[in-house]
Amino acid sequence: MTKINRGLGLLLGALLATAAWSSYAADVTQLKKDAAKWVDSNTKTLEAANRKIWTYAEVGLEEHKSSKELQDLLKANGFKVQAGVAGMPTAFVATFGEGGPVVGILAEFDALLGVSQSDSPTASVGANLESGHACGHSIFGVGSVGAAIAVKQLIASGAVRGTIKLYGTPAEETGIGKVYMLRDGMFKNDDAILHWHAGDKNQVSYSSSKALINAKFHFKGVAAHASAAPSSGRSALDAVELMSVGVQYMREHIKQEARIHSVITKGGGQPNVVPQEAETWYYVRANNFDDAYLYFNWVREIAESAAKMTKTELDAVTIQSETHDMLGNRPLAEALQRNFAMLGQPQWTAAELAFAATTQREFKDPFGFDYTKAGISLSSNLEPLRDDFEPAGQASTDVADISWFVPVGGIRVASHGYGLPMHSWPVVAATGTTIGTKALATASKVLAATAIDLYTDPKLLDAAKADFKKVRVPLTWRTAIPEGQMAPKSVR
Ligand SMILES: [Zn+2]
Repeated sequence: MTKINRGLGLLLGALLATAAWSSYAADVTQLKKDAAKWVDSNTKTLEAANRKIWTYAEVGLEEHKSSKELQDLLKANGFKVQAGVAGMPTAFVATFGEGGPVVGILAEFDALLGVSQSDSPTASVGANLESGHACGHSIFGVGSVGAAIAVKQLIASGAVRGTIKLYGTPAEETGIGKVYMLRDGMFKNDDAILHWHAGDKNQVSYSSSKALINAKFHFKGVAAHASAAPSSGRSALDAVELMSVGVQYMREHIKQEARIHSVITKGGGQPNVVPQEAETWYYVRANNFDDAYLYFNWVREIAESAAKMTKTELDAVTIQSETHDMLGNRPLAEALQRNFAMLGQPQWTAAELAFAATTQREFKDPFGFDYTKAGISLSSNLEPLRDDFEPAGQASTDVADISWFVPVGGIRVASHGYGLPMHSWPVVAATGTTIGTKALATASKVLAATAIDLYTDPKLLDAAKADFKKVRVPLTWRTAIPEGQMAPKSVR
């Protein structure tokens, strides 16, 4: 091309692009309505998928049927699916479209161990304590897939240009899926990432989460007859118990926002055999990664000391995963808030309100707190977007790790009784009913609408990237996971 021709070509290209963007501007609201219409016409399909995944209640890295359910839905709608990514059989990436902008939507689908699985609104404690969807990840997965397919319709019809990616991210409850997908290079080249979560409010997330280090400590002792020859044995369980005592004393001298909790995963076979093997599993959390890492190393020293005190061996400390504190993105939060306000919040039937009110009454708080006191059984209002980023979170999520590499925005949608704690049976119960269906459909619409903004408004994408830089540049990324380590095979 000659200089003049190239100049003309560039001018023509710019004019065409401007024409495309301005034609978008007029139609964007209609595009969002079209996406919402797709969700409304396909709610039954999404509801059936949720009910299946909710019933499977598969825990992290075992979500074979749940992952397949979502993959099948995406394939049936024309997505190209790459399964078993980042060394995890249940992780996948589904893609549709080509070129930029590239918008990623996150889906989770793992259940929790040790909670009951029932859709009864009365206390179901003791029913089946194997596993349940007490964090609402069955609706999380399906709602996100709904958003991705709604967006795909618009890309397929030529109404918007770009690529939509749906990430199937397993084992969120142990902070594993996204962490190892990120280490495998995923997410980093996308322009923006959207996600959502079950909650008791309708709210745009503009707050941080706790950094977490997830590690198992394995002790080795010597087995012997506990009564006839105790002096010949060394108890690995004693080391686990002393480690626990040490950590209780440590608690007094750490920042009050830090959290440390554990379960004993191996404690010996029977009382008359000195336990040769014992293992304890710790989550060490703090408001930022550096503090979490400092406390984790303190816990490790306590474990080493417990081994010395009991003449046993601390033969393995396995950092299974870690999560960082979440970084906020103001332009994405504002776009989500606008769309959430425009598309509306779930509206509940009398039966749904009564169901949630029953769970509020039946959930027995140990301190007698009355969950019905607020007079709201299910929220149908949109909370205002907070002015400033809330720097301290209560829980942790591996979504946060992605927020260190790409602009990330997310929402919470009311999907269970107001005020009730996550990881409890009332969350399981509501998630499996039409309350969960309404929440996931709302999430599908709001995420799809915000993706549409990202495809059609280059200023929004630029602003999101500028805000990401401003927040991220002063920070240093550190990781406690050894270089080259692959994802664990199991979370149990
Ligand atoms: Zn969750």
